[in-house]
Amino acid sequence: MIVSGVRAVLPTGILEDCCVRIENGVIAALDCPDREMAGYESLDGGGAYLFPGFIDLHVHGGGGADFMDATPAAFETAVRTHLAHGTTRLYPTAMSATEEDLAAFIAAYHTFKKESPLAALAPGLHLEGPYFQGAGQKSSGAQPKGVLRLPDLAEVDRLLALAHGAILRWDAAPELAGAPAFASYLKARGIRTAVAHTDATAEECARGFDSGFSHVTHFYNATSMHRKREQTVYAGVVEATYLDDRVSIELIGDGCHIPREDILLAMKIKGAEAVSVITDATRIAGTDCKTAKLGSLKNGTDVIVEDGVAKLPDRSSFAGSIATMDRCLRVLCERYGIMPSTASVLLSLAPARYMGIADRKGSIAVGKDADLCLVTEDYKIKNVIVGGEIAV
Ligand SMILES: [Zn+2]
Repeated sequence: MIVSGVRAVLPTGILEDCCVRIENGVIAALDCPDREMAGYESLDGGGAYLFPGFIDLHVHGGGGADFMDATPAAFETAVRTHLAHGTTRLYPTAMSATEEDLAAFIAAYHTFKKESPLAALAPGLHLEGPYFQGAGQKSSGAQPKGVLRLPDLAEVDRLLALAHGAILRWDAAPELAGAPAFASYLKARGIRTAVAHTDATAEECARGFDSGFSHVTHFYNATSMHRKREQTVYAGVVEATYLDDRVSIELIGDGCHIPREDILLAMKIKGAEAVSVITDATRIAGTDCKTAKLGSLKNGTDVIVEDGVAKLPDRSSFAGSIATMDRCLRVLCERYGIMPSTASVLLSLAPARYMGIADRKGSIAVGKDADLCLVTEDYKIKNVIVGGEIAV
């Protein structure tokens, strides 16, 4: 395929009037002299931006489906919904849940992988919990409280056995008894662990990083920072993360969870390539529902939609976003004034680096997979290309 007349968004800047040649699903040239060649399908970009496909590290659902519905159809619906918004790779995320519900989520994923034409878009799973600060604790956010528990390596082993290598990342609160052992245990098995839903002090968090936690889940949200307890002041997860160059972060890019200054500060301290933007989308993403269940339909948490974000009904906490990655792009570029090339690092290259796939994904370069989005001047999706084929 030849994609001509595009403004290719590279990490270093924009390549104007670019003509991209794709061969066998891979970018073969960025300066193709001919807009049409025998044997090649042509796509005229009409001056649109060409972004690398977005990579969403943290997403619970979309199009009315939540991965915790634990059916292959729910996986299919959510993945297809996000694909239409430019996401060419995502990591289905489980909420904190009982072992039984997590097992059902894993089983549904296996069937989806076997049967779906979209299977390659979801190469593995992300477990958000259930080893978080417990019931009644303020940092549990929208995580269902009854199922939060301490890290349990026997349970971890049982879920890993069911997953057959499908679990690629797993989050826990580093201050819990057993959390450092959890992080080093998973690290030894090549599974990434992230700090999340935590009230840790900076010291507890730093101990976690030394044990193997290497990332912070929805940084600034349900993560502790400078505060006073009794007569003593403590630093928290935010400060410990800024002080440790080994640690990357992810931020919810819906424009509601994170103000502009906090994104700029994170990029300034960590460097854009260590800052991934995520949707943390619930099933509401890609729909116009005003109420929904977060997590499983059977025993999930009720949420409402107001001001473009999901909230607990008592409005005490945000409850995940309703964003898609193209909305995050609009927030970054139009509202926060971030350059498209930098936004692209946050939406594609940083998550590719975190997952260890940046040699093939996450930016537009010769030799990388042709996972691409054609995006209009006002940052709306025009086409999505996956592995050199027009998917949307
Ligand atoms: Zn989440």
